[in-house]
Amino acid sequence: MPTRRPHESVYVCPNPNCAKSFSWKGNLNRHLRYECGLQPRFKCPYCEYRCKVKGDVNKHIVRKHPGSALYVVDLFLS
Ligand SMILES: [Zn+2]
Ligand SMILES: [Zn+2]
Repeated sequence: MPTRRPHESVYVCPNPNCAKSFSWKGNLNRHLRYECGLQPRFKCPYCEYRCKVKGDVNKHIVRKHPGSALYVVDLFLS
């Protein structure tokens, strides 16, 4: 009997321009809904950095603007 690898559930993004894959379907859904193919929604108030995930702007501020207040500009609301 051939040895079969244990089934890995990998959910690959259906967008051809995107090579992301996820081990949880929920993560793929979140990616499609909030990240993939969307305009960046959140912007760093201190520079031109933009991204689609609010938490990434916070991480960016911690890394690039240490000591600055964590504050995210929501481009959809402005
Ligand atoms: Zn994608
Ligand atoms: Zn910045």
